[in-house]
Amino acid sequence: MTSKKVRVRFAPSPTGFLHIGSLRTALYNWLFARKHAGTFILRVEDTDRSRYVEGSIENMYEALIKLDIKPDEGVSIEGGKLVDNGSFGPYLQSERREKHLAYAYELIEKGAAYYCFCTTERLDELADLNRGLGKPTMYDGHCRDCSKAEAESRAVAGEKHVIRLKVPREGKIAMQDLIRGKVEIPWAQIDDQVIIKSDGFPTYHLAATCDDHDMEISHVIRGEEWLSSLPKHIFIYETMGWDVPEFAHLPLLLNADRSKLSKRQGDVAVEDYLKKGYVPEALVNFVALLGWNPTADREIFSKEELAGVFQIEKVNKAGAVFNTEKLDWLNGEYLQKMPAEAFKETAELFVADLPADADMKSRAVLIFQDRIKTFSELPAFVEEVTGALPEYLAVILPWKKSSVEEARERLIGARALVDSFDQEQFQSVGTLEAAVLTYIRDKGWGNGDMLWPLRVALSGKERSPSPFELLFVLQKEESLRRIDEALAKLA
Ligand code: GLU
Repeated sequence: MTSKKVRVRFAPSPTGFLHIGSLRTALYNWLFARKHAGTFILRVEDTDRSRYVEGSIENMYEALIKLDIKPDEGVSIEGGKLVDNGSFGPYLQSERREKHLAYAYELIEKGAAYYCFCTTERLDELADLNRGLGKPTMYDGHCRDCSKAEAESRAVAGEKHVIRLKVPREGKIAMQDLIRGKVEIPWAQIDDQVIIKSDGFPTYHLAATCDDHDMEISHVIRGEEWLSSLPKHIFIYETMGWDVPEFAHLPLLLNADRSKLSKRQGDVAVEDYLKKGYVPEALVNFVALLGWNPTADREIFSKEELAGVFQIEKVNKAGAVFNTEKLDWLNGEYLQKMPAEAFKETAELFVADLPADADMKSRAVLIFQDRIKTFSELPAFVEEVTGALPEYLAVILPWKKSSVEEARERLIGARALVDSFDQEQFQSVGTLEAAVLTYIRDKGWGNGDMLWPLRVALSGKERSPSPFELLFVLQKEESLRRIDEALAKLA
């Protein structure tokens, strides 16, 4: 695709948790970097101090680590502290402020930016006026033509000001996007963007563009919401005589009703999904397919497999619907494939608060491995089989085609059989199942007339997991106790 060394960046603002949308951006950058043997960089865009949320950089970094999409370069955490990893730092944007200011002055020198002294009152009035006319709230260029000498002396004298880009007023800009192809935007739609605020801090547009240049970013892969700002960014590159990177703007993420996926419309923090019991690999697999799928007939891929075939040009232009059912299904698939020990380790955390015996709970989680879609469903299931035997009536013990007498006989047989089992037999559902079925066959009984009363005796319910699973969970002593209780009811 390109002979340039591939360097891509994920550049979140530290305004909260890592959201599903940002995860998709991070992941596509990671996939692209892996595909092209490039470098995946984490830069933190923290210049808007008013939106800064304490702890969010750490949280985002940890989330990337948990999902195993570790940055190769950039902001990192060592010994609980934020550090720069790489030779293009600092990677915290606020620490690059001097560079941003220097670039802003250079843009003024080149006639591509200007000082603006308009007061907030004037700008508010202008915005009201535009709104009233149904026009976009754009700056009217009032200070655009103030001479540089005059503007500089006003600025030096301490008059409050910002610095704005001086974008062309006429014609249109044609840009190339790897996903959207050629994109044209008339300059008339582009505002004279503030690049340095009155507090001396740069805005996103200046900081991100300059940092992308300084960090030798080859491809800028980010959300579609930035596409409309691209003319300003390209204007900066071209004015400065810098190489323009390639751009790819990823489609929006949508709710099922096709509204924009937002924080308000549901719980979209990656952290929350992990807490709810989604497996990191499943979440990554799911998010990777929001906007792209290498084949029409397969849904389950590791991120390494995806990286091998990733093609940014194949990402859809249309918004990608976030389908929770698909996420649940995928997660269920990943849970089923987990090695039992690994499954048990996480599952145990989810049932830790249930009052039952710990060993019994660890056996119980295993019988649900194939049935749950997320770990958070476990407590309810496990409680069903590890809770106290409920009160039940003797009438539910016989199978529908059997008599009470038959049910009693089968349970007496079951009791003797279970009593004869050694520890070995209780080690797995499979061995218990084989032993019980052999016994039934040897006796010449029907499966239903023995398995039904045994299952009801062990669960106290008409519906429950199989008797083999219940034997496995309850083990010998408790199973015998329950069978005795059933026999007493039938006496
Ligand atoms: N800081 C911006 C954000 O959080 C990054 C946009 C970009 O990647 O250029 O959305």
